Amino acid sequence: MSQKERVGRPGRRQNDDGGTPGGDGYDQARFTDGDRYEPLLSEKNSREVEVETELPGELTRDSLELPALSEPELARHYTRLSQMNYGVESGPFPLGSCTMKYNPPFTEDIAALPDAAVHPGRDEEKMQGTVGVLGRLSDYLARIGGMDAVTLQPPAGAAGEYTGVLVAQAYHEHNGEDRTEVLIPDSAHGTNFASAALAGFDVVELPSGEDGRVDIDALAEALCDDTALLMLTNPNTLGLFERDIGEISEMVHEAGGLLYYDGANLNALLGRARPGDMGFDIMHYNVHKTFATPHGGGGPGAGPVGVVEELAPFLPTPMVRETKGGPTDRGDTTGELSYELYEPEQTVGKVHGFLGNWQVLVKAAAYIARLGEDGLADASAKAVLNANYLAEQLDYEVPFGPFHHEFVASADQDAADVAKRMLDYGVHPPTTKWPEIVDEALMTEPTETENRRTLDQLATAFNAVAREDEETVEAAPKRTAARRIDQVGAARNPRLSWHSLEE
Ligand SMILES: *Cc1c(COP(=O)(O)O)cnc(C)c1O
Repeated sequence: MSQKERVGRPGRRQNDDGGTPGGDGYDQARFTDGDRYEPLLSEKNSREVEVETELPGELTRDSLELPALSEPELARHYTRLSQMNYGVESGPFPLGSCTMKYNPPFTEDIAALPDAAVHPGRDEEKMQGTVGVLGRLSDYLARIGGMDAVTLQPPAGAAGEYTGVLVAQAYHEHNGEDRTEVLIPDSAHGTNFASAALAGFDVVELPSGEDGRVDIDALAEALCDDTALLMLTNPNTLGLFERDIGEISEMVHEAGGLLYYDGANLNALLGRARPGDMGFDIMHYNVHKTFATPHGGGGPGAGPVGVVEELAPFLPTPMVRETKGGPTDRGDTTGELSYELYEPEQTVGKVHGFLGNWQVLVKAAAYIARLGEDGLADASAKAVLNANYLAEQLDYEVPFGPFHHEFVASADQDAADVAKRMLDYGVHPPTTKWPEIVDEALMTEPTETENRRTLDQLATAFNAVAREDEETVEAAPKRTAARRIDQVGAARNPRLSWHSLEE
């Protein structure tokens, strides 16, 4: 098989086997032109280059084949590649649970300021600005979540979960309790199960009730002296608020357990309700979801963890705090530090290098500061309105509801096929086949950043696919740069070098 065939040539140019989607409204629903093929730079033109170097001969080659292209050719190559890709700047990205909102570039401008590029190994007195931003962000997040202390160190939501689970473990151990079980509803994100198992806990899966929420009877039955933690996502992955959260919190605490909040869905509550007020003891924040830092492609992100006062001594080190004098303005020459780093007394240790993913954190701080309290509340209101509006427009069955920030539609086609077919309409598909309690789940989260025109356009794409016959949907995608790929193979055995294409 040749290299070009492997990376997938577009159907339309090679053979006209149904490359153009037939559904009504195709043109209205289209967001990108993915149907191109772009050769590797070295395929375009390359030449042998003599290598001259002072390095020892055994470490170097005599000659090297390198692409030989003009600057415009190079610029066009990368522009075409970017057009073959799909991002939130190409069109809506309704990937449920991932909160793929549009990221305003002002946060990038701030992160790119020369003063923001600080070597993390500097002493804290030589980077008071950086430490001060982190201190303020911890404070913002604590207020948003209703928590008493926040670590910014974990580099992702999953890493935040793991950190939170370690904190719970340390807390129970400190109290001389040997609690071995973590309870997790079946609708939870896979990382919840993984985080608890990685920390050495036995995972007990709770079945959802008829209404898609925590089944209180099942919870009562599962709670026991072994319960260390209940991990909950609220609103859950169906976009439903756990109405009984007050009762759930009482039950868990009564049993001596702690309550963990998976903050990936915080976008639904932002500025309106706080996990801390609902009785949660530990939570993580998905900074790259809720606070508009770009994600996708695996990061980088940040997953700060907030805890109630009792658990603060167990947080990772170092933490940031304001010194007694409080923040001083730049240029103040009292010589006193405004912020300092400290190690919590019973810390679980370090969970990431230095202070965490600073470049991601500074964007989140800028975003929160710019929106302010009213802006955050406005974001969650629109996120909820948009999800409910879009759910109403779809021809697919949408069980449960009304929703918070996302909903899960049930496709009568194979959900993975629907997702592939949506790519032909030039739109990013929703999350599929999860949670498993909905058949052929299409978990859809439009976010607050899409307006009504875009939501209507998105609904047109969904509904066009809903009307198509099985054969067409199963054969998708036809118009993308790569056709059906081996997804499991790509995840388990990634080939990260083009050299492997030559094999
Ligand atoms: C995204 C997500 C996570 C994991 O967060 P990452 O930042 O991707 O590691 C956990 N729980 C839920 C519900 C999520 O959507």
